Order: sequence, then C-alpha cells, then structure tokens
Amino acid sequence: MSLTVLMNAGPWLSVPPPGYGGIENVVATLVPELRRLGVRVVLASVETSTLPVDERISVFPDGQFHALQRPYNQVCGVAQAHLHGVVRALRARDDIDLVHDHVEAVGLATMAAMGRDAPPALHTLHWDLAKHPELYGNLDGGGRVRVSGVSASQLARAPRALQEHSVGHVHLSTPLAVGADRRPRVAKGEHVVILGRINPGKGQDLGARLARRVGFPLVLAGPVGPYHRPEDLAAAGDEARQNPDVRFFYEHVAPHVDGDLVRWVGTVAGAERDDLVAGARASLFPLRWEEPGGTAVVESLALGTPVVATARGCLPELIEHGRTGLLTADEEELGDLVLAAGLLDEDECRREAATRFTPEVMAQRYVELYQQVRRLAARS
Ligand code: UDP
Repeated sequence: MSLTVLMNAGPWLSVPPPGYGGIENVVATLVPELRRLGVRVVLASVETSTLPVDERISVFPDGQFHALQRPYNQVCGVAQAHLHGVVRALRARDDIDLVHDHVEAVGLATMAAMGRDAPPALHTLHWDLAKHPELYGNLDGGGRVRVSGVSASQLARAPRALQEHSVGHVHLSTPLAVGADRRPRVAKGEHVVILGRINPGKGQDLGARLARRVGFPLVLAGPVGPYHRPEDLAAAGDEARQNPDVRFFYEHVAPHVDGDLVRWVGTVAGAERDDLVAGARASLFPLRWEEPGGTAVVESLALGTPVVATARGCLPELIEHGRTGLLTADEEELGDLVLAAGLLDEDECRREAATRFTPEVMAQRYVELYQQVRRLAARS
C-alpha cells in the first residue's frame, strides 16, 4: 500500500517513552505494525526518539514533560511551538496523505485551522473529555479533520462536536498479546495487583480498603505523581504534597499501606512488571472514573490474569463478565469478586488478548480508518 502518514506524537516524551508514557507507548506499538503493512511513517516527536521510522520531524531536542507542571498557557506554548514545526513541514511538502494526530486539543485545533491546505487528519482521543468540551471549539476544518476514540464508551461520553466528527474507535493493544495463547503458564501467587498511576480515578484507596476488609494481599504498582520509587517520595518532603496525586496518596491510600498485606512498590517495568501481573490471582481496577482505554487491562489479559473491576468506561468492552473477568457496579462487591476470580480460566484471558488486542489488529483497524478519513475528505 502506498500511504504516507505523518504521526504526531507531540513534544512531551520521546518515543518509545523512557518510562511511563501513554500516547507515546501507543505510537511506539502502532508504528512498526503500520510499516509492516506498507505504510510510510513520518514521526513528529522530539529529537531523542529512537523508534525506527521513515523520516522524523522534531522541534525540541528532548521531551518537554517537565513543562506540563507549569501554568496552562505555558503548556499550550510548548504544544504550539511543536505544532508550528509540524505545520511548517506540512506546508513545505505535498507527499503526506494523512496526519494521525495524538496531541490533545491543541493539535486538533491547529489541524482544523489549516483547513484546505492540510492533508486529511485523524485525531485520536486518549482521555475522558466529557468534562472538557471547551478544549474543542471549532472543529470544522473543511471536513478534513476526523476523530477516533480508544473505546466506544469514550466516544459516547465525548462532547457533541467531537462525536459529529467521529469515524469510530480502535481499542488499545499490547505487544504482550502476540502469541499470548501459546506462552507457558506461570505459577499463580496469592496476591492481587493494581497496576496504574496512583490517582483518585484509578481508585487505589478503595482497593486497599477492600484488601484489608476481605483479607487478600494487594500490591499497588505505579507512580505517585512524579515519584516512581517509595524512597524518592519519602525524600521529597512536604513540598511534594502540592501535587494532588501525592496528597491523595498520603490522605487516602497510605493509611492502608501496612507493608505486609497492602504494599506500594512504586513503578515496576519490564520483566518485573510482567512477572508481578502474570503471577497475580487477579488484576483489580477499582475505578472511579470512566476509564477511556485501559492499556493495563489488556496487558493483564495477555499475561493470563483475570480482571476484576468496576464496570466503568471501556471495561465492559474489554472484559467479558464471567469469562475473562468479573465486573460490578457495586464497589463493595469487588472484594468478593477478587476471591471468585480464581475460578476463571487464565487460558481464556490469553486467547482473548491474542485474538483482539495485538498491535496487528490495532494497525489494521487504523488503516481502515485512514482510508475512510481520506474518502470523506475527498468528498468534502
Ligand atoms: N505501568 C507500568 N508500570 C507501573 C504502572 C503502570 O509499566 O508500575 C504501565 C502499564 O503497564 C500501562 C500504562 O503504564 O502500560 C498505563 O496505561 P493505562 O492505559 O492503563 O492507564 P493511563 O495511565 O494511561 O490512564
């Protein structure tokens, strides 16, 4: 297929990301599969990105993640500078068939503002935007800018202006899903794991309280704000509490962390992360927000660990209740479901991941959407 796509991963982190990185991880997973399908990829990112691509565009020498802690107008300034670089490149050439944009709000507005001068664009939403319709104003873009989501539920909750431009959703994927159905089983331990940023929406406070009440060992893995290791958080002192996730941790999670039944181990990565999840009796997602995509959910399935979760956001799309996990609308019931999760067949989880959540499945679906966006633009 001869299709050249400008993949805009934004200025925040290199691709692949050095540690945590949602959008950058999605791009790092998607691009190699697109190239295998014959798509030429021009990556707009930062100079430190090492992902093999056909060509690169960068404005900043390295990831500007630290700037996200600054006031909102300065955050927008960084995003704008990056996007002006992208727009300059687009104006200077005519070989880009489509822009696949992952930069929230600012990216979409810029593409729309370019109007007929811009190639058709697909903007993938990564967050739950129901509460932020103001971020997406004029989306007209002469019919050339379209939107995709990472789940049907995310799109259903999105502001109307976005829904009107939607071409559908593509679920997230994980390289762990490749051959997941053929990988040998790992001995299961007694522990339950919650993998994710420590944050009120992810509900670690609820999980920790239930672990203490019902009596199951719980491992919390993930960063607290910018702190990846417990010793770094401890060393940061009181100033760290200016970060809302740090405050949430100290006020609502830490009181349950006894270092024995409930432990916080900081961010885990690579084989350590995979072993922790694969050896768990269940992955718990005691969500309080409408999870838009849930990479950690599909990773858990790929590692053969059933998912126990509140039935929020994309969870009912990713998990089949009674087969690959257990879902409930009742927070208090989660504790009992954790105990029941051992009855589920881990091979069903792996099979589901190998069928639905591989990077190849994701890339094929995006190529379909690219074609659809180009057809719609040609008609406009
Ligand atoms: N993650 C990790 N180590 C941790 C906690 C999380 O590698 O200690 C990874 C996790 O495996 C997943 C990503 O961070 O790939 C979280 O993505 P998800 O979509 O689940 O949540 P988000 O943080 O984007 O809302």
